[in-house]
Amino acid sequence: MELSGLQIFKYLPGAKKSENTNCKICKCPTCMAFALKLAKGQVDISDCPYVPEELKEKFLYSRKPPQKTVVLEGLNIGGENVLYRHEKTFINPIALAVVVDAASHDFMQKIKRLEKFEITRVNEKYTIDLVILKNYAGGLETSLRLITEEEFLKLPLKDATCRNFKDTAENLINIRTRAIKEKDEQYADPVYVRFSSGLDKKDVCAKASYYICKYANMLVFEDFDEALFSTLITLRQNIFTDPQKPLQVEAKIYEFNNPDENSIIFMTTNFALTFFAVANELENLSVPSYLVVTPADGMSVLTAWSAEKFTAKVAAKTLKKFDLANKVKTRKIIIPGLLAHMKQELQEEIKDFDIVVGTVEAYEISDFVKNNYPLK
Ligand code: SF4
Repeated sequence: MELSGLQIFKYLPGAKKSENTNCKICKCPTCMAFALKLAKGQVDISDCPYVPEELKEKFLYSRKPPQKTVVLEGLNIGGENVLYRHEKTFINPIALAVVVDAASHDFMQKIKRLEKFEITRVNEKYTIDLVILKNYAGGLETSLRLITEEEFLKLPLKDATCRNFKDTAENLINIRTRAIKEKDEQYADPVYVRFSSGLDKKDVCAKASYYICKYANMLVFEDFDEALFSTLITLRQNIFTDPQKPLQVEAKIYEFNNPDENSIIFMTTNFALTFFAVANELENLSVPSYLVVTPADGMSVLTAWSAEKFTAKVAAKTLKKFDLANKVKTRKIIIPGLLAHMKQELQEEIKDFDIVVGTVEAYEISDFVKNNYPLK
């Protein structure tokens, strides 16, 4: 565990009230300020000449990375520092690899299928992380990240696969716990689980999902399936977001399908998942539109409303900031259906536009527009 500011402070002159207390040699106003900054990694331990050896040892030990990182042509495997995401964040998303036998009759077909695989979620593009080639003699030109099986087996990665799910799951938990809590060198290598070919897809999906949550650094599949990979990538993306940083987009006015001054206008908050769900619908509409995104610290509409991040004043201020009333002739703004209770309040604050209550769900937008804004 990393030392907290208070744990560090206990060793400094300030806590002992000795003669060097708050001497400022470290360029911090007090020993406490130095301790807090050291805990956050904002100063160097050598900045204070009065740090005792005991603290130096404890501090260096606490900063030692518990799990090693294997770097493979831009792919980072392992390097995790915590057992639970909420303690800080997980660092390197679990790598998803596919094994392909270069001696198989449909080798090139398999490679083409892997090359074609790409999904986009919350504005991030994902492809296959790594292809492990068996019986490969070279010569393949591809955009995929490749490694031969011989090279893969030489990497400092530990195979945590056991004969059944229970043993594999316990093995993964044991290895990660010992690496993080005990900083035991024996358990510092990143770990992977390998799925052999011919297994039931649903069974593989369930087990792989568990191993993504606890605690594989890499999953290796001898069979490839687009649906399985899409599901696992979605789960992985959810787990590997930083809990201290809400998923948010820039608060501004977004344009879809070349809108003009008569185009329809929607409004929502800057929570990324809401934004991309709405943006996806607006992109696919047969009419152009604007989407006004208000600043809400990345909160969804109802959360933002209850936290007073989405208020009538914030909405009015956003419209004013982008001077929307002078840029368009449209005089209606469609708000999320979940904020129907705010209609009156918004209307009183936003004089230039009529407030229209839209849909609760993003997928309903298309029908809403067809019914309310028929093409002329
Ligand atoms: Fe305290 Fe050391 Fe900084 Fe002096 S140099 S203020 S003793 S932490």
